[in-house]
Order: sequence, then structure tokens, then C-alpha cells
Amino acid sequence: MFKIGGFVSASKGYLHMGKDAVMIGGNTFQFFTRNPRGGKAKDLDMEDLRAYLEFAQAEGIGTILAHAPYTLNLCSKDESIREFGKEMMKDDLARLENIPGTLYNFHPGSHVGQGVEVGIDYIAEALNELLRPEQTTTVLLETMAGKGSEIGGRFEELRAIIDKVKLQDKMGVCLDTCHIYDGGYDIVEHLDDVLDEFDRVIGLCRLKAVHLNDSMNPMGSHKDRHQKLGEGSLGLEAIGRIINNDRLRDLPFLLETPNELDGYAREISMLKELRK
Ligand code: FE
Ligand code: FE
Ligand code: ZN
Repeated sequence: MFKIGGFVSASKGYLHMGKDAVMIGGNTFQFFTRNPRGGKAKDLDMEDLRAYLEFAQAEGIGTILAHAPYTLNLCSKDESIREFGKEMMKDDLARLENIPGTLYNFHPGSHVGQGVEVGIDYIAEALNELLRPEQTTTVLLETMAGKGSEIGGRFEELRAIIDKVKLQDKMGVCLDTCHIYDGGYDIVEHLDDVLDEFDRVIGLCRLKAVHLNDSMNPMGSHKDRHQKLGEGSLGLEAIGRIINNDRLRDLPFLLETPNELDGYAREISMLKELRK
């Protein structure tokens, strides 16, 4: 089955997100657990949750992807920012247990001058504090573009984090096509070589979701500016190869292109055409 979805607004609750997801032709979706710039999450509405779970089952919405706020930085130099990040993640993980089997994606963080190794240690330390054996949520490290002191621009860095985590079966990776292309992985001309490398360094069994984006910038630019599908440096042909690739095709694909819902609807129908 082709698992495809857009980014929907969480402001009106879960049922509303589910309805938006279906309206644009998707069978999964991604949402921010709280304001992307951080802060307090809305109180959970149990009635809304129950209604969502029923709707999701009836409409065939599969595994969904929750995205942590951008401000969450588990490897900040500033201890109060690290603590704040852990509190947000702890709260997000507790809430997500109401939707069993959800994926929770976060940006590993920026080490801001402390060096990659210190950053990796902080991130793994935080995960070791937060992960619980009984949780049903899988926590995903997102592949990054390697902008500034961002961790996760190289597959090796993600592997190093996972290696230091005790509950490794709670961890996975989300591959962002804009980010890795900007990070210098040539998924346009050499997709299979990049997937071989991912498999060798991280293990494809750890890959749980794909953020499907075109990029405004050329390969290796380390910029991280998403573009609408077919209007950037990846182009539609490469995107078609990605969604049809044998090693990727069963994963959920989530759009993060600069669009409103109608734009996502157009991209999803275009992708369904491209899907073999
Ligand atoms: Fe992201
Ligand atoms: Fe992304
Ligand atoms: Zn991005």
C-alpha cells in the first residue's frame, strides 16, 4: 500500500487532523505536538481522541508521525535549554501513548561549538533518561542538512547516537529527502548507492519514515530550504524513483513542502500518478 500524507494543523484536535488528512487524499499525516517554536501543549481532549481513533480505523489511517518542536535541543550548551527539551519530550511521549504505535520525530539538535561528540553524548543521555521499556511510540532521529552545528547531517552521527542508547528497539530514523540532498547525499543520480550507505552505516531496518520534499538548493549546500515537488533541485523524476524504490516503497511518505492543504492535495494526487 502507498502510505502518503501531508502536514496538518493540530490546533483543532486529532479528529480534525484525521479529516484534513483524508480530505487531501492521504492515509497518514504528520503534525506538530505543540507550537513548532515550543511552549505548552494543549490539554488532551479524551473525547476528541476517542473520536479520532474510531475515525482513523474506519478510514484506514495507519501509523502517524508526530514532530517535536524545532526549539527542542537536547544538546544545547545551555543546561536550562537541555532540561526544557527533555521536559517537552517527556510530556510529548506521555501524551502519544494515547495513540499506540505512533512515530515521534525530532531534530537531534545543534551542539553550538561544543563539538559533535559532546552533542551526541548529551542527546543519547537524554534519550536514556526518557525512553521507557513499556512505551509503544518509536522515537525517530531526523536526517539533517548539516546546517551550522546541526547534528545528524551524516549517517555516522545518527548511528553514534543510537549506539549509545540503551533501549534501541524504541529508536528509528526518519529520512528527509531535502535534508540529505542538501547534506551531500546524491539521491538524484545515485539513490541506490545512498541507500547502500544508509544500510551499512545505520541499517535500513531502522528507517521508519520518509519526509518527501524537493529542495531549493543544490546538492551539498547544507541549506535546508524545502521546495514543492518538482520545482526544486531534486525534480519529479528523482521523486518518482524514491517513492517506487523497493527499499523505500512500503514506508510512510510525509510531505513537508511549502504548501497549504490544497497544495498537498495536488502533490498527493500527482504522486499517486507516479506510483507504480
Ligand atoms: Fe523536521
Ligand atoms: Fe523533515
Ligand atoms: Zn527541513
